[in-house]
Order: sequence, then C-alpha cells, then structure tokens
Amino acid sequence: MDRYDPQAIERKWQDVWARERAFNVPNPGPDQLARREKTYVLEMLPYPSGELHMGHVRNYMLGDVVSHFRRRHGERVMRPMGFDSFGLPAENAAIKEGVHPRDSAPRNIVAIRTQMQRLGWAIDWDRVLATHQPEYYRWTQWLFLRFFERGLAYRREAPVNWCPNDQTVLANEQVVDGRCDRCGAEVEARNLEQWFFRITAYADALLDEMQLLEHWPERVLTMQRNWIGRSEGAEIIFAVEGGAARIPVFTTRPDTIFGATFFVLAPEHPLVEELVRGTEHEAEVRSYARRAAGRSTAEREAKEKDGVVTGGHVINPATGEPIPIWVADYVLMEYGTGAIMGVPAHDERDHAFAERYGIPIVQVVAPAEGQAEPDGAFVAHTETEVLVNSGPFSGLAAPEGKLKIVEWLEERGLGHATIGYRLRDWLLSRQRYWGAPIPVVYCDSCGIVPVPDDQLPVLLPEVDEYLPKGRSPLATAEDWVQTECPRCREPARRETDTMDTFVDSSWYFLRYCDPHNESAPFSRELVDYWLPIDQYIGGIEHAILHLLYARFFVKVMNDLGLVGFREPFARLFTQGMLYYHGAKMSKSKGNAISPDKYIERYGADAVRVYLLFIGPVDQDAEWQDSGLEGIVRFLHRLWRAVMEQAGKEEGQPTEASTPLLRKSHATIDKVTDDIGRRFALNTPVAAVMELVNELVKNPDDPAARFAAETAVSLIHPYAPHVAEELWERLGHSRLWEAPWPQADPALLRRQTFELVVQVNGKVRDRLELPVDLPEDEVVEQALASPRVQALLDGGELRRTVVVPQKLVNVVIS
Ligand SMILES: [Zn+2]
Ligand SMILES: [Zn+2]
Repeated sequence: MDRYDPQAIERKWQDVWARERAFNVPNPGPDQLARREKTYVLEMLPYPSGELHMGHVRNYMLGDVVSHFRRRHGERVMRPMGFDSFGLPAENAAIKEGVHPRDSAPRNIVAIRTQMQRLGWAIDWDRVLATHQPEYYRWTQWLFLRFFERGLAYRREAPVNWCPNDQTVLANEQVVDGRCDRCGAEVEARNLEQWFFRITAYADALLDEMQLLEHWPERVLTMQRNWIGRSEGAEIIFAVEGGAARIPVFTTRPDTIFGATFFVLAPEHPLVEELVRGTEHEAEVRSYARRAAGRSTAEREAKEKDGVVTGGHVINPATGEPIPIWVADYVLMEYGTGAIMGVPAHDERDHAFAERYGIPIVQVVAPAEGQAEPDGAFVAHTETEVLVNSGPFSGLAAPEGKLKIVEWLEERGLGHATIGYRLRDWLLSRQRYWGAPIPVVYCDSCGIVPVPDDQLPVLLPEVDEYLPKGRSPLATAEDWVQTECPRCREPARRETDTMDTFVDSSWYFLRYCDPHNESAPFSRELVDYWLPIDQYIGGIEHAILHLLYARFFVKVMNDLGLVGFREPFARLFTQGMLYYHGAKMSKSKGNAISPDKYIERYGADAVRVYLLFIGPVDQDAEWQDSGLEGIVRFLHRLWRAVMEQAGKEEGQPTEASTPLLRKSHATIDKVTDDIGRRFALNTPVAAVMELVNELVKNPDDPAARFAAETAVSLIHPYAPHVAEELWERLGHSRLWEAPWPQADPALLRRQTFELVVQVNGKVRDRLELPVDLPEDEVVEQALASPRVQALLDGGELRRTVVVPQKLVNVVIS
C-alpha cells in the first residue's frame, strides 16, 4: 500500500479539474432561462494588495465547501472570482513596494490566482475580472453616466473628510472614530467641490426593503439601520428678531419646544456672517469659525461643548420670546439644517452648554403624578411622561403633546412633521491616480458635459508621477486633460478626480454573469437568471460600506430597468476573523502567515480542513501549528483506513444493520444538516473523524467498505484532492460530480428498549426509550409520565431507583 503523498495527489487532481473544466459552468441557453435550478455562491472579491494570508484563505474556504456541496446536489453552481484592483488598497500597496500600480496590480493578481489554484478551489476562471481593466471600468463609467442623467450623481461644494496621509477625500463610511479606515490617520475637515451619489434618495428604500433580507445576520441589518438613522420629528421655523430671515431646524422632540431657551448655528451656517457683520461680536465669531473649520467632525463631536454669542436673537415660535443665537461647533452643517434649538433640560449636550454659559434651563417634560425632580444633574426624560410649563399643552402625555404642538405650529406656518436621516450622500471622487476616471468634461460654455457612451472608456492616462499630493495626479497629464467639448466642440477640460474603489465593487457581481459582453455591462436576462446571490460571504467590516453601496446600486439599476430585482444578496454570511499569536491576522500587524509554506510541507488539503475545523466559522479563531498537525495525522489515518478497504474484494451491499452501518448513515445525516441547513462548517470534520475511528476499530465489519466510501464522500468538500484520489482507488471516478450521499431514515432511528415505570413498587407505565439515553434523562422521562404525575399530585417525591435499560421505581410518600 503506498503512502499518502499530498503533493503528488494535489498536482494530479488540479490538472484533472482544469482539463475537465470541472468547475466552469456555462450560462443557460435561451430555453433554460426559465428553469431556476441555479445556485450563485460568492465571496467578496479580494484586493490584490499582496498575497493571500491564512485569514483570507479561511474566508474563501466557506464558499468552496458550499459550492461543492450544492454542485453534488445536482444544482447549476456558479462560483466566480475577481480582483478589486483599482483604488486605494491596491495603489497604497504599490506605493509601499515602490512599484507603479499598473505593474504591481497584474503581478499580484497572478500571485493570488496561483495561490488559489494551489489550494484547489473550485472556481469558474472563465468569468474572472479585474476592476482596473478597461473592459471592466468602461462599464463602471457607463453606469456613472446613467446615475448622472438621473440626477443621482452630482457635484457640489461641501465640508468633507480629508485624509492627510492618503491625500484624498473620504466618504463618511470610510471614517471610523475620526480616522481613515485605510491608514488610520486622523481625518481633517475641508471645504471642497466633490462628486456625490445621491444615496439619501434611497434611504427609505434601503430601510423598507430590508424585509427582503430575512437571511442576513441581524447585526448587519442593525448597523445599516443605525447608519441610515431614520427619525421622525418636525421641522420648526425660527424667525430672526428684527430681520427677515427664518431659520428651520429639525428636531425629534418638538414636544420640548417650550423649553428651547437658546438657539445655535453651525459655524459654517451662511447666516452667521450676516448676523455679526459690523457688530462687536464679529471678530470673536470669525476666529471661532476659523478654528472650527480646522477640526474634523469626530473631533467636534468629542470635544467640550463651547461656543460664542452673536448678539442676535430668534423668536421661539411657541413662547413668542426672543432667545439668543449662539455659534457652536457641536452643531454640524452636514446634519439636519445646520441649526438647532437648544433645550437644555432635555438634551444632554444642550444641558452641558447651558450650564457652562449660565443659560436658563426650563423643564417642560416631567414624570406623571408630579413626582419630584432631582436638582442640578441632567436627567433624560422619556416620552412616557407629561408636558409641563408648555402653555395650553401642559398636562398632555408627551407623545400626544408632540402631535398637537406640531399641528399647532403647522396651522401658523411655523413648522410641519417630517423625517430626518443620519445618512449623507456618498462622496465618490478621489484625488488619487489609481481609479476609474470620472467620465465628464468641463466646458466654459456648456458646463459639466458627460462623455458620450461611444467614447467610453475614458482611459486612465499614463502618469509616472502618480504619488498623491493633494490634487489629482491626473491633472499633470496635460495632453489628456485638454480635450474637446462633446457638445459644442470648443476646448474643454477633463475631470481629473477618479472614482472611489467602492464604486467598482458595487456591481462586479453582476458582471460575472456576462463577463465578456462588449455591448452592455451585462445582459438583463442573465443577471435575472443568476441573481439574487444565493450565498454571499464576507466580512462584517463591510456592513455600512460595500453591503450598503451595492444594495443602493442595485435599487437604482432596478429603477433604470437594467435588472429585475431589488436586492443583490439573498443570504449573507459574515465570517469570524483569524487570529495568530493573540492578534487579528493582518499584514499591517506583521502576524500574517502565508498558506504557501504550509501547503508545501503538509499539502493544501490539511490547510483547508484545519481552517474549518478550527472553530465555528462565524466566530474568531486562533491559528495553531499544532492543530494543523492533528489534521495531518487524521488525513494519514483516513488514507490508511480507506486503502485497507480498497485492497479488499468489493463486498456485497450489506443488509446487516451493524453499528458501523448505522454510524455511517448518522454521519451522512449530520454532515448534510450541518452544511446545508445550519451553515456549521466545523462540526462535519469532527463527525467524519469519528466515523473513521469506528472504521479503524472494525475493519472487517460487513459495512466497512461502505463506511470508507462514506467518509471519503463526506470529506470531499473539505479535502477534495485526497478524497478524489481515494474515490478512484475505491474503484469510482469523478467524485466532484457524484451525487451527495443520502442517509437511510430507517437506519437513523435510534435503538430503543422498553422501560418499566413503577410507583412504590407497582407497575404504572411502560415507555419506549432510546438505549443510549443518559440515566438522568431516563428518570426525567419516567417522572414526566402522566400516570406518574397523577400519583405524584399531593404526594412527595422521596427518591428514584433505576435498573439500567429496564426499570425506574419512583418512591413517593
Ligand atoms: Zn488614509
Ligand atoms: Zn461645450
């Protein structure tokens, strides 16, 4: 019997699969489109910013197991792969290496693809794409233009997040705790003219259509819900005293308006200048606004609440009283209307502000039944309480008071009910080289003019000085920038910003369905066939980035008639992180381990099995070399046990219901349920190990050969190379397309015995129980018998006497 030689086996089967095109799935023909026997399995595509480390490998193992499992259930399975090779991650990797991204991106793609092939992943490589290729980004630009035509892509000046290290603006979603989520630098505020996608127009759709996402982790939905931040409230108008200006504010607590004792404008609010011009406060307010402009949003939210007076007043529309207008940087121009009413009794920030400046604090909501209030400290008041000090509304329950007050303001033209959102539009332009050029030109007479579709792609110009320097490196390609206006033919200039990498990844999963289409991004028939994705797999860190953006894109495309569905990902799974030496494995932390040396030493199958065996896939796990060695021993044991059966005459299918036969069927049942229904991918490995142990103990059992075949068949999605080889040695072929084994229900039934139940020595009941039921559960079942219960009623349970597999005597008094 020859030895298990993973290197030879793995090379052999990878060649066979490639030659047989085992995992390439053709698109359905026109007559097959209606038959929906498809499965689309997808993991988020990698950034080619270096080679894969074990953390990535674990992630892609999930899709590999699922796609094998589904394929062997007879489904048409598509599992493609691509590379998110445009944008910051790939460009920063290139800068670090000192190589131009146009050279490093293709090289990294080749390296990753080689790793994936060595891991034996079942991928349809006919569909591969890379987002930096002109044949791909041509359609990214084409989609941008469709958004632009609809007013869903627009340009405006706004305060934006600036990463001083990456030298570019960032979307709000890319700022985490005031820092750039790529490089960790503290983000600064700048006022710049930028391109935005109007994702806010889809805020309600993004919320309401979450009902289609019943197979998403609740945690991800909650993160999106909070990020969108829909809140019901009112817009209330405050008139400036002695002037014509009327300033709207948004509040979720219109019930507290009688307690508004001051008013705050964001330092950037356009009225500030007008209010203070020529007054004694002008200099102080100006210098305050200048300092605020240099602070990031996060910094402003975190710092102590301070401000300066303007000398002006607005009229509180409820009380008719003038209240002072302040300027304070805890109010942000980007949220609400850039102005707030200060209600210090019922808002913690307003409370801190009022305490600091001695502004009156008027309580207008109080606990019912006149309970006393603690003095001084801020107390949050809930809407279950009643209004006080609120004129005609005093005494009303707060929710009712809220409605009545809004009605009352509305009658007088001073407000109306409305809905506010936390979500801002998606800032998509980047002052960086390595991205899809934004396909518009600027013409002195025509303004912003889209590049006509037949002139796409707008190719990224060759620029050698591509390093970020605060303005787009594309601007240095003067020949490229100078162009002609498509409308009037006069000289015009190209847009020199590029698109955010998340634009590229917002539609790539559609292109896989029709990757070679040269006349459209994809055929609607094909995307309607394959989508929604049946199983999408990726990290929770994309909850409010890619997963939100892709949903938005698909909704817009649905409204444009490009796709026939509203949601791209029917089922989402977010995997845990891989740790090494106690820290999350990552290249930047220096603790990333490459799969390559482990594959060389132990084989890809061992790495594959170990990464799933290591723990539940939705939880974090720690890589340990000793754990991998345990798996290597298991694969050798499997090899020897199966080879021993392969050497024997093929036995007749056995009728003998031996424990080994029952164990085999129980294992089929468990593995099938774990992968197919529970998405528990670690426990099947342990189940197959148990089966192999039983096989090793009973090599001459009549069911030994069946047990060997079962073990090989079930471990196949995890260790496809060795499984394929053993399958062949057992006299079969092409395990990758062999039907998944089915458990015989008759053999799944547990063996039972008849339990005699006595009460004080008299037989009262007989129960049919499994032979392997633990003793405490046997007693529990006996006590649960209705006849025993009837006798127990009124009596006291003294003790129980158990004769195993025979009898339980219940002693009562
Ligand atoms: Zn950065
Ligand atoms: Zn023009």
